[in-house]
Amino acid sequence: MADVAETYAERTPESARLYREAREHIAGGVSRSTIHLQPHPLYVARGTGARVWDADGTERLDFLGNYTALIHGHAHPAISGAIERQLARGTAFAAATEEEIALARELRERLPSVELLHFANSGTEATLFAMRLARAHTGRPAIARFEGHYHGSHDAAEVSVAPDPGVAGPDDAPLPVADSPGITEAVLADTVVLPFNDAAATAAILRRNRHRLAGVIVDPLMSSSGLVPARPEFLQELRRLTEELGMVLIFDEVISFRVGRSGLQGRYGVRPDLTTLGKIIGGGLPVAAFGGRRDLMELLDPERDRPVPHGGTYNAHALGMAAGMAAMRELTPDVFDRLERQGEWLRNQLAEVFADHRVAGQTTGLGSLFNVHFTDAELTDYRSVRRAASPALERRFLLGMLNEGVLMAGRGLGAVCTPMGDGELRAFVAAADRVLAALDTPTPAHR
Ligand code: PMP
Repeated sequence: MADVAETYAERTPESARLYREAREHIAGGVSRSTIHLQPHPLYVARGTGARVWDADGTERLDFLGNYTALIHGHAHPAISGAIERQLARGTAFAAATEEEIALARELRERLPSVELLHFANSGTEATLFAMRLARAHTGRPAIARFEGHYHGSHDAAEVSVAPDPGVAGPDDAPLPVADSPGITEAVLADTVVLPFNDAAATAAILRRNRHRLAGVIVDPLMSSSGLVPARPEFLQELRRLTEELGMVLIFDEVISFRVGRSGLQGRYGVRPDLTTLGKIIGGGLPVAAFGGRRDLMELLDPERDRPVPHGGTYNAHALGMAAGMAAMRELTPDVFDRLERQGEWLRNQLAEVFADHRVAGQTTGLGSLFNVHFTDAELTDYRSVRRAASPALERRFLLGMLNEGVLMAGRGLGAVCTPMGDGELRAFVAAADRVLAALDTPTPAHR
């Protein structure tokens, strides 16, 4: 381990210096736990297209794109142009704008299940409001969520995202576990935890809790725990069950919306009651949305008796609406086809690299998204991913890739973005090849 970490430290002295300075002003040095990295996070000075330059001036290929948000890479001319045009007219007003109607119309056209929507600033707010609408609609207090799925950082979302399986109850009846100090027993009491891709156990738990459950939220790609897609028949069964039990089904498509023009729901042909969106819909600026069935969304209508209020100083800010619209315009069916082919090619090439080095490994994902795993075990849910994981190896891989000039997420997550061509994809595979060649310790399967 020391070798890759030492090389990283040697090549990023300016990031080390900035991190020391940051720690004097910012708690823990970073305002975002996910970018923390030992011995220090990478400081990026600028980015353009698929490339970023760190504080030492070193160029890297960005296969993370701000955790999959930047589907068009950095400083895309069409998006920058839209931002500049709006910038000259102002950024945000305590008034409605025409720009928000345009983006809302565009998103509704892509997602037939979204009859009406509201804008917010983060995926966190979008899932918070989707859950609240489910409670408001049903009058029931609890929300069911899948173990290992991430839905943002509000209280009801930070439950059983990354629990130790040893203390989280049986595989077919997981217990709610707080992911953070400060999450109250009351929040846990109103959270029901489900095992992903296990239809029988999910049905049993939902039926047992039918009188208190307002809704079920699911990230159909389980993107934060290894990018393992839902089995299509599992999602169909979940749709059938929630309908039967009168529960609101929420698809959290904050990440999965990038797998096709109509997101994952379009690919699978399953219609949720509510959908949450974020990341790519803002063209790189903080924009999110939640939307769905008209009767549910109309609970927000200020003209009704006792509406669900939705404040937010920057909701639907004009800058984000303009950037988001420009990003959506660039996402034509041809562009999705190309991203699909590139993602597929990368996943296949990585399988060959694993085989060449006789390393137990696999690459999961869908469309432009991929996740590298150092195991050949079957991955279906949070526990199967967690039990087969090799955190030390993952860390060496991440640091090794950084040293080889490639940026990706610590958990093995990466994404292809539209400015990438064959050259960038081949460079990624070549870097992975060199990193795996240098991994001198045997992988778990060979121990
Ligand atoms: N849902 C999912 C599926 C996500 O991946 C994320 C963020 N990674 C969120 C919700 C929260 O979004 P935000 O970071 O914008 O609050």
